[in-house]
Amino acid sequence: MGITFQVAGRSTCDRARVGAIIVKDRRILTTGYNGAPAGLAHCDDIGHLIVGGHCVRTLHAEQNAIIQAALHGVSVAGGAIYVTHQPCLTCAKMIINAGIRRVIYAGHYPDQNAVAFLQAARVELVAHPAPGKLEPADEAPMNNV
Ligand SMILES: [Zn+2]
Ligand SMILES: [Zn+2]
Repeated sequence: MGITFQVAGRSTCDRARVGAIIVKDRRILTTGYNGAPAGLAHCDDIGHLIVGGHCVRTLHAEQNAIIQAALHGVSVAGGAIYVTHQPCLTCAKMIINAGIRRVIYAGHYPDQNAVAFLQAARVELVAHPAPGKLEPADEAPMNNV
């Protein structure tokens, strides 16, 4: 989880610095953070692109970690994903279809549909406190993504 927070530090949208790492057989396969698509301008440089109260310029950290696996031809099936924040519904659906079986998250994100989808797909959901923090994971600070 400590490495996941280091990855989150590379995020280029300051509405939420999110990091994700996909692990399988105790090896890190891919990493991701939330940011604009490759080659496009980033929020930190030109500002957010807000639609419906959300910044839509970025791909989420989980999406970028899964896409990086596809880009390099690495199977993440049966793996686990560490995320600094609980996944949103779109990321939850991608995690399910990528065959990832376990989600370990630090910060709470209020998306009950995402939780319901992951549970229905029998993906294990594990709360893990952020490194260096004693309070429960659901009290970790979180901006609206
Ligand atoms: Zn942004
Ligand atoms: Zn997401």
